[in-house]
Amino acid sequence: MYLFNAAQLKEIVALLTKAKKICIVPHHKPDGDALGASLALYQFLVQLNHSVKVVSPSDFPDFLRWMPGSSNVIDFLNTQKAADDALNNAELIFCLDFNEPARTEKMRDLLLQSPAKKILIDHHLAPQPFCDFTFSFPEACATSELVYHFICQAGFKHLINTQVAECLYAGIMTDSGSFRFPSMKAETHRVIADLMEAGALNYRIHENVYDNFSLDRTRFLGYCLSNKLMVLPEFRAAYFHVTKEELVRFHHQSGDTEGIVNYGLAIKGIVLSAFFCEKDDIIKISFRSKDLFSVKDLAARHFNGGGHMNAAGGRSTLSLSETVKQFEKLLPLYKDELLRCP
Ligand code: 5GP
Ligand code: MN
Repeated sequence: MYLFNAAQLKEIVALLTKAKKICIVPHHKPDGDALGASLALYQFLVQLNHSVKVVSPSDFPDFLRWMPGSSNVIDFLNTQKAADDALNNAELIFCLDFNEPARTEKMRDLLLQSPAKKILIDHHLAPQPFCDFTFSFPEACATSELVYHFICQAGFKHLINTQVAECLYAGIMTDSGSFRFPSMKAETHRVIADLMEAGALNYRIHENVYDNFSLDRTRFLGYCLSNKLMVLPEFRAAYFHVTKEELVRFHHQSGDTEGIVNYGLAIKGIVLSAFFCEKDDIIKISFRSKDLFSVKDLAARHFNGGGHMNAAGGRSTLSLSETVKQFEKLLPLYKDELLRCP
């Protein structure tokens, strides 16, 4: 059970008794958990008559557009003025699913400068002290799981309606690899049961997220699997690297590369997978691992990133081929650790 500090929770509940201007901020390129947690909190807070805006530092993947409230999300990169107004006028800001302001990328300064009281709810390790209230539970499988407990412990379980439940279900489902990662506890299954009783249709949400790809994205996945997957069995590692040109060729949309990294881990014996993606100014990297091999440490030490033990990300300012070379050169250093995994 993730217990929120009772005194702090009481203070927040007191703040919520009067209608307020509230912003909810997920991390840059929000995934199912970041957006699910944000929209669930949004759907909860509007029932208390607050004026609520979800301000995202960027756009989000198309396969999350079914989430109730998603059409109202303000995209900072697309409508900067609206984001400026919302954050500057906010009295309360909830920061969800990130542990440091830099995870909001270009929105960082705007977020930090806002006079609003800030509340962090997150499951990444080592949160930076930039909020007035910090609720950090790195053992939790998803921030959406924490938002469920936040709402319940604040005394508002009865306000978990179908909309709130759908968003929370989707957040937990996506961050737990459809309920299969070690972070998924029996307790989390009980939360999921509650969400289904509150109206979340499990099969519909799975369909909305996983059976909703464009033809381009599906062909791009096929291309990556047949042409771009490199396997290094001596290190139990696999990786993909894709160029900007390839993204353009497959009419890349936000979210299209998400999840492809996991296919590396689906190969027998592989315990480390990486996905290198050439962006305009940087190489964005996704890492996934099994068991005790920490990609969070790998990303933090060598690729300016972080995340969780088995799912992390980072970036490089080198070229795509140099970044891949750097990764391959590092592998011998981690060989013992990789071979030790069950
Ligand atoms: P993904 O590979 O799905 O982009 O990210 C996997 C995990 O790593 C997520 O929990 C995400 O928060 C974290 N992550 C991804 N990119 C970065 C990064 O550049 N810096 C940090 N600190 N964490 C990241
Ligand atoms: Mn998350």
